[in-house]
Amino acid sequence: MLDEKLQAYKKKERIPGVTPAEYKKEFPFLKEVDSFALCNVQLQLEKAFKDHFRNRKQFKLPKFKKKRDKQSYTTNNTHNLIRVDFEKELLYLPKIRDGIKIELHRKFDGKIKSVTVSKTSDGKYYASILVETENRRNKVVEPKSKACGIDLGLEHFATITNDFGSYKIEHPQYLRQGEERLKRLQKSFSRKQKGSKNSEKARLRLARQHAYISSARNDFLHKLSKAIIDENQVVVVEDINVKGLLKTRLAKSIGDSGWSKFLTYLRYKAEWYGRTFIQVDRFFPSSKLCHRCGYKNEDLALHDRTWCCPACGETHDRDVNASINLYFVGLGRPEVTPVEQALVDDRSPYGLPKKPSCDETGSSTTYG
Ligand SMILES: [Zn+2]
Repeated sequence: MLDEKLQAYKKKERIPGVTPAEYKKEFPFLKEVDSFALCNVQLQLEKAFKDHFRNRKQFKLPKFKKKRDKQSYTTNNTHNLIRVDFEKELLYLPKIRDGIKIELHRKFDGKIKSVTVSKTSDGKYYASILVETENRRNKVVEPKSKACGIDLGLEHFATITNDFGSYKIEHPQYLRQGEERLKRLQKSFSRKQKGSKNSEKARLRLARQHAYISSARNDFLHKLSKAIIDENQVVVVEDINVKGLLKTRLAKSIGDSGWSKFLTYLRYKAEWYGRTFIQVDRFFPSSKLCHRCGYKNEDLALHDRTWCCPACGETHDRDVNASINLYFVGLGRPEVTPVEQALVDDRSPYGLPKKPSCDETGSSTTYG
């Protein structure tokens, strides 16, 4: 289908509408697959072309996938053909009447809408099941702290201040070690002769390590963000320009530390659990303001880990001070002003702005 569309596109002809059924004669294996799986691919393809013609810059033309990359298909539930047997740990899919043995992560109630089966590049299969339930409420824990400010950093993953004080979250050791191993495997893979058996073995080892790191990191980020959301009513973070930073040489460590993912998790968990998530404007000088007297240290450099306030004499740990300022922003609710007025506040020479400038939940799209 993609090939036919692309051919027409290249010849500047009208792009034809194509259906999977047309190919069943030529490719009999298509009959082995259930029709929803094929239909969903067709829908995705139509969407990809539609998106492209709507916005060519953002949506590139769809291309062929490599066989080794992650592969997946989605199938919908009709006539109760998709079922899960929790006792026997079996998943029934259309055309797979005997069921497939699965490793269940959790039980669920409700009506199964669709299933996406994917195969990762390290050769594992996953099924993600979309379920419609009556009761969508999450268990909400009473927050112990009114607000918290989070400063994200390179040396420590995060520095957090809430009603009970400040503390630092380290980058997990297992991630650091895992990344070192990843580097070694990458080197080993690139040394192997392409197409050889050893190269394929090295590729698999590398893919497995990639998969391990990515799930270990997600696990860390999910648990941390959940704990923060449970504990605090208002969560304030800086609006770090992740895309901008990624272009600098800090790129590697920032990419690895998963900041943007972390912010995404915080944002949607805040929504789920009825908390307020605030992303302070990028120009809010959280590191430069003395949290005690409001003096703004214009000379603070990126490598200054501590500084002494010339106005009040307080010595600051850079990250702790920043997180305290962000915490104050959280306490300052609800008198926050919209983001449009940010620049005025930022340039005031003294003091924590009485009305901090904030960009509230969901409206920021500076990172991806
Ligand atoms: Zn001061």
